[in-house]
Amino acid sequence: MTGLMRTYMDWNATAPLLPAVRDVLVSALEIAGNPSSVHREGRAARAAVEGARREVAGLAGAQASHVTFTSGATEAANLVLSPEFKMGRAPVRYGRLYVSAIEHPAFREGGRFAKADVTEIPVTSAGVIDLAALELLLSSHDKSTGLPMVACMLVNNETGILQPVAEAARLAHAAGGLMVVDAVQAAGRVPLDINGLDADFLVLSSHKLGGPKGAGALVSRGEVMMPKPLIHGGGQEKGHRSGTENTLSIIGFGAAAAIAAQMLEVETVRLSALRAKLEDGMRAVAPDVIIHGEDVGRVGNTTFFTLPGLKAETGQIAFDIEGIALSAGSACSSGKVGESHVLTAMGHDPKLGALRISLGHATNEADIKHTLAAFTKIAGRRRLAGQAA
Ligand code: PLP
Repeated sequence: MTGLMRTYMDWNATAPLLPAVRDVLVSALEIAGNPSSVHREGRAARAAVEGARREVAGLAGAQASHVTFTSGATEAANLVLSPEFKMGRAPVRYGRLYVSAIEHPAFREGGRFAKADVTEIPVTSAGVIDLAALELLLSSHDKSTGLPMVACMLVNNETGILQPVAEAARLAHAAGGLMVVDAVQAAGRVPLDINGLDADFLVLSSHKLGGPKGAGALVSRGEVMMPKPLIHGGGQEKGHRSGTENTLSIIGFGAAAAIAAQMLEVETVRLSALRAKLEDGMRAVAPDVIIHGEDVGRVGNTTFFTLPGLKAETGQIAFDIEGIALSAGSACSSGKVGESHVLTAMGHDPKLGALRISLGHATNEADIKHTLAAFTKIAGRRRLAGQAA
């Protein structure tokens, strides 16, 4: 094993482009027209965008006409987390956003709700949103300011823990509210069905699926109830998101969505087996390793762990030196490692932090071996350092 060998184990941060998507993108570079133009070149671009819309809808169990393309999940979140909606032509107001404590900042920031109108839903120490707490919060919701909106992720990006979204949706609807689901980390890892989840909206991102960066979608259950647009202009995307469609990225997103749907079962089994090997190996080397969420439902690609005595920041650098790319908690956009709000919400000491290994379509046995070899070295050094202290 040379020092030059690199192993990418940070698929929850972003997935490298799928080779098949790359091929689709190269061909799509030839598409010259604007999808809104009526001539042949325009119609060809439109057909490609609409094909992608069908693929993305298929992944979400939704209708193609209910997919609004955006620049990514963050924009889709900012579009949907709005106090102002229209039901047909009639305005509808949402007075308060209830958002789980473990959401990605794209959701936790509350979109277009004023900070004072955002309430955090706590999570249990197991890393699952506290449904009893949500029920209590909704029972005291003040409808005079507007209806409640609940936002929760289906899979947490740090821990991989599955969230009880359908149950949360039942509570949101019983209180007359809307349910918005961040399905970014769930897509391609668990079957998605907007109706089965009882969600009103799902948010998706292309680059987590092996598609290009810069495309995402807001998927709605119906067509009647929609948020006030965030971006105004030429009225593209039925007026929900103006601006010439990012044709190339949307086409790549569609291709990635189709592959994710097709490969879901096979990849789930394959990655779960690789992860089991990794975690068994980690426990054998360091029996004191804490694997967060191991006792609750998790997607098969994520291991979020704490090695007592090893600071996450130090660990991340040590793994990087060994050739392994992984994350420490969630990296801030500045590249600095912040304390994990997910660990804090779960009641763990965020000071030690945790490291995240996440697997994806190109991960193989050799990657697991390389990661375990690095883990063994780093865990060993930690013990020596502990004895010396
Ligand atoms: N939601 C979750 C759970 C994520 O993991 C991410 C990306 O890190 C986002 C939302 C934001 O997605 P995008 O990069 O497409 O804006």
